[in-house]
Amino acid sequence: MTSATPSAPVLEARGLTKTYGALRALDAIDLAIGAGESVAIMGASGSGKTTLLHCLAAVLAPDAGSVRLTVPGRAPIELAGLDETARSAVRRTHLGFVFQEHLLLPELTAAENAALPLIIQGASRADAEAHARGWLQALGLAGMEDRRIGELSGGQAQRVAIARAQVTGSPVVFADEPTGALDSATSAEVLSALLHATVGQGRTLVVVTHDADVAARCDRVVRMSDGRLTGGQAATTSRARGAEEAR
Ligand code: ADP
Ligand code: MG
Repeated sequence: MTSATPSAPVLEARGLTKTYGALRALDAIDLAIGAGESVAIMGASGSGKTTLLHCLAAVLAPDAGSVRLTVPGRAPIELAGLDETARSAVRRTHLGFVFQEHLLLPELTAAENAALPLIIQGASRADAEAHARGWLQALGLAGMEDRRIGELSGGQAQRVAIARAQVTGSPVVFADEPTGALDSATSAEVLSALLHATVGQGRTLVVVTHDADVAARCDRVVRMSDGRLTGGQAATTSRARGAEEAR
């Protein structure tokens, strides 16, 4: 509503290709994701969703094509040519990740888990945990900050993972099946928390999901089949247009 001019894409993939031996897991994907947009990636198992997410998120290096990341106040960064050390630095500095709950460290508390990305960035433990506690409270986990992960329900643990993905203020957050292990009521709550913590703060969310309810709450859905996009790949760059196209 504030502007008729679409914002520049925060992520722009061109001809993105990834092969595993003879298998083309990604086959010349073109995709632009606007700043502040929430985009769901759907498709059958094995269609390439995780591979696409990992190439967009500088986890994997593609074999061909480009991925440009443009975050506020920075020159665009071309991810495709970076080595692992450089990709790791980009992930640490600009990107957030919501993995399955079992990737939280079970021997640490909720606050300690959520604080980790800040500690890795060099923050003091006290500052990092104070900030993490703020996010845990904002995500409905007040009073649970000092519990170990095993003392939380699946939905609560996933909110810890969401807090962990937000503490550094990453402008882009990636989630792979964030509600995959949850019942539908818990899934809806966790998704609300994820949307609030990301697009609700002006951040961009890219989420792989099998869940039509999750996809329906995102601005835009892109569908994959055999390493290609089969729908919704138009380079939508504003949330308003995304919502319109999702009808
Ligand atoms: P999805 O997330 O949609 O289930 P993936 O991106 O995980 O799909 O996988 C796409 C295809 O690439 C599948 O056929 C999968 O078996 C294959 N694949 C994924 N990762 C690897 C890998 N590390 N080595 C070999 N093949 C892989
Ligand atoms: Mg997958």
